[in-house]
Amino acid sequence: MIREWSQQRYVMVAPVVLATIGAFLTGDERRNEAGGVLIGSYRGSHVEVVGCTVPMPLDGRSRYRFDRRDPGHQAAALKAWHASGRTETFVGEWHTHPEPHPTPSGRDRQTWADIMKKNSNPLVFLIGGWESLWWAVGERGLVVEAVPLDSEPSALLAAVESLP
Ligand SMILES: [Zn+2]
Repeated sequence: MIREWSQQRYVMVAPVVLATIGAFLTGDERRNEAGGVLIGSYRGSHVEVVGCTVPMPLDGRSRYRFDRRDPGHQAAALKAWHASGRTETFVGEWHTHPEPHPTPSGRDRQTWADIMKKNSNPLVFLIGGWESLWWAVGERGLVVEAVPLDSEPSALLAAVESLP
């Protein structure tokens, strides 16, 4: 799926990532928030998310909170960096909310502000809800919601994916 966050700047998320997040929004998994990091690459002025981590043993999971504490998330991003020949890296984070159509909490915005202080590249922030996903891209302290395109022309997708 592809969304636009500023004029002709796109964020793409691979179907496998959406499916992975979706698995934490059904059944017993819905009882506690889940989350992880997003792994992907920068293509021109666009961001492509190709993978993500899932909750790990040292993370904190409760009904209204996910604390990404397990060092395994950062280790997975580092592993992807080396395995990809230094193209895939940490490009953001995701977590779930116990609500149908999620919106960010004050604490989410604070967490993202802290992450943006350590990263100068655009970062993708995804919140999964029972019925919809909230997408945003943060850059230089500003978080902008990414909106669906009227259509997802495959030519556009292919053009962006072919960028170095
Ligand atoms: Zn949240």
